[in-house]
Amino acid sequence: MCGIVGIYNHPEASRLAYLGLYALQHRGQEAAGITSSDGGKLYSHRQMGLVADIFSEENLNRLIGSSAIGHVRYSTTGASNIKNIQPLKFTYAHGGIAVSHNGNLTNAQFLRKKFEQEGSIFQSTTDTEVIIHLMAKNFDKDLHTRIVYALGQVEGAYSLVFLTETKMIAARDPYGWRPLVLGDLNGSPVVASETCALDLIEAKFVREVEPGEVLIFSEKGTESFKPFDKPKKKAYCIFEHVYFSRPDSEVFGRNVYETRKGFGQALAKENPIEADMVVAVPDSGVPAALGYSEESGIPFQMGLIRNHYIGRTFIEPTDNIRHFGVKIKLNAVKGLVEGKRIILVDDSVVRGTTCRKIVSMLKDAGVKEVHFRVSSPPTSWPCFFGIDTPERKQLIAAQKSLEEIRQFIGCDTLAYLSEENLFYFQKNYDEWFCDACFSGKFPISLKDHPDISNSKSFKIK
Ligand code: SF4
Repeated sequence: MCGIVGIYNHPEASRLAYLGLYALQHRGQEAAGITSSDGGKLYSHRQMGLVADIFSEENLNRLIGSSAIGHVRYSTTGASNIKNIQPLKFTYAHGGIAVSHNGNLTNAQFLRKKFEQEGSIFQSTTDTEVIIHLMAKNFDKDLHTRIVYALGQVEGAYSLVFLTETKMIAARDPYGWRPLVLGDLNGSPVVASETCALDLIEAKFVREVEPGEVLIFSEKGTESFKPFDKPKKKAYCIFEHVYFSRPDSEVFGRNVYETRKGFGQALAKENPIEADMVVAVPDSGVPAALGYSEESGIPFQMGLIRNHYIGRTFIEPTDNIRHFGVKIKLNAVKGLVEGKRIILVDDSVVRGTTCRKIVSMLKDAGVKEVHFRVSSPPTSWPCFFGIDTPERKQLIAAQKSLEEIRQFIGCDTLAYLSEENLFYFQKNYDEWFCDACFSGKFPISLKDHPDISNSKSFKIK
């Protein structure tokens, strides 16, 4: 769960990177950073917190130069601390280099252990740093050769943007797990995790960076390389469409809002029920709830209101005041929902604890019946490719039956979208998408997780 951005050859590079990160804030709220280059030196500012709190006029003024890359972080690999904030910046035999990474490598621990046994010293605990160690071990004069050497040895998910004193490089793994798009701002190339970042800075969408593609931006212009063997199947992350990406983005060639609405329509066809209104868990459940409402003819109502102003600095009241629970974020519109039968729509259920609190809050507000509908299949497996899901034993769908989950959540009926309908919009979906967190069919073997690779449900598609 991270967002990356890069802009090459623009006089306002670091400010544009800052705006790009603003648009990508939903991809990570733990920390953010920008590294810029003035053609001779790299400048960096990285800090814990939200983009708006981290960057000031003063520190943006210090990020001089006409190229910049940025990162918003939600930790998946590596603890939450200042050393792990990206872009990671290094000096090696070939000068300075910085890198922003979205995704998770599945053999980083294996490589790191090997390098540490050979005497390497790491400055962070992120998986990303092994890429730089691999580049440093290759002494070829050519940057492209060093990058291909390094990426040829890592496994798993990566959408990357590198910055050197004179070049910017974008790369996406051959399976295409995480999105990465190429844009153009009056002749200056821009790369970003999602198109919503291009929209904010008014850059034109050019195309997706293709799976397995390495793009080098330099004085010579933009060069594209496809140095890796194509895997038989791609592994675009379906969870980007279920929950993760912003609904106004185009991801893997499709609008996220439209997809979510389609999931809701499919959910209504598969799991109809009589009710007075359809209510979304805001904000991520809204497009699917609208789809459910449209398909079923049952009116959509804003029965739950979200507080948008909860920052990271929120201090939980002590137990002796009272336990506010989910009410800090959400509240029921009592006058609207009291005495009513509602269809409650959310995008996914992970541990089940939040849904349980929401259902209990609705019942406290006088709701007669809560029919809970989930616009994705049961999440039964953890993700190893860059989405922060808990261990299997904490995933409710891996531990309980449908009826047990219903009882735990406290709703009157419960239904999930089927795996078949998750991909209703894509022909031959298993050739294009990863759905391992639902199906347990991991597209590659997981070197750092032999326990999962050896489990009975592990299947390579
Ligand atoms: S396991 Fe799930 S969340 Fe992870 S990449 Fe695959 S579809 Fe996405």
